[in-house]
Amino acid sequence: MCSGRVDIALLSRAFLNGLDGVFVGACRLDECNYVTNGNYYALTTVLLFKRIMEYIGVNPERLMIQFMSSAEANVFVESVNNFVKKIKGIGPLGKGMGEAGDIKILMERFKNIMNLVPYIKLMKNDKLAVRLKDPKDYDEFFTKEEIEEMLMNVVAYYIMPEKCQACMLCARRCPVEAIISAKSEIHVIDQEKCIKCGSCFDVCPERIRAVTKVPASEVPPPIPENQRRIMRKERQVS
Ligand code: SF4
Ligand code: SF4
Repeated sequence: MCSGRVDIALLSRAFLNGLDGVFVGACRLDECNYVTNGNYYALTTVLLFKRIMEYIGVNPERLMIQFMSSAEANVFVESVNNFVKKIKGIGPLGKGMGEAGDIKILMERFKNIMNLVPYIKLMKNDKLAVRLKDPKDYDEFFTKEEIEEMLMNVVAYYIMPEKCQACMLCARRCPVEAIISAKSEIHVIDQEKCIKCGSCFDVCPERIRAVTKVPASEVPPPIPENQRRIMRKERQVS
């Protein structure tokens, strides 16, 4: 599999499946066979995910990326052997120095990250596309503070009942069917299903602007089902 396919969801899933460490082997930078240079994307993704691991209390050394050409079997063998040795030294997931200890808590945190993948990609899209040339830039490319800021201030999307015109555009665009939609009824976002992709916010017509962003901890309760009907004014016929 091309290293360009490595993304936050894939890395989260690997740890959710109980792996103690993840090794990403990628082609040498600037030697990608495709114009997309997916190995740069793999690099920025790994750097981002390491910060996320740090944030949720997992040793970031459990994740590694190594660049090599297909002719460098020796580099592959040596780096994998060293990585395995390192992971054995750190110990099983959750038991490493500074880690939460309770594997269930860690799994919950990885699941939360999984739910936030579209949001994280949306927030860090520009930086993920940067091509880092100098290894010196790697360490602080994503800072601890910026990841804290992103994950502590997660937004939620909310449809203001007094503004919604039930045009249904948002419900059609939602990729996970998180919007409770019916003809002539105020639309409501199911916060449990919402993956925070922001599509409803983008698609709600400018003149209506019924979708808003609020801090995730301050989402108002959904409007009761029996109050969702929109009463439209009858046209006057002269
Ligand atoms: S942000 Fe809007 S479109 Fe995206 S998943 Fe949530 S409700 Fe659906
Ligand atoms: S796009 Fe806006 S106005 Fe239309 S149903 Fe969704 S929230 Fe309501």
